Amino acid sequence: MTCAECGAKVGRDECGLTRKLFNRGCSYCLCYACLATRFRTDTESLRQMAEAFRESGCMLFQ
Ligand SMILES: [Zn+2]
Repeated sequence: MTCAECGAKVGRDECGLTRKLFNRGCSYCLCYACLATRFRTDTESLRQMAEAFRESGCMLFQ
C-alpha cells in the first residue's frame, strides 16, 4: 500500500490507524506524516496510538 496523499510506502499500522481515525470501510491509507498533518498531532503520538490499539487486541493491528 502507498499513502493516498504523498505516495509514501505505508505499513499495516498506518492502514489500521487510517481506518480507526476515519472509518473502517476506508479504501485508502495515509502515512504517519499525513495522518499527523490531518489530525494536528505528531507521528510519535500516532505510533503510540497504534501500539495502544494493538495491545487492546484490535483486529486491524494484528
Ligand atoms: Zn503521506
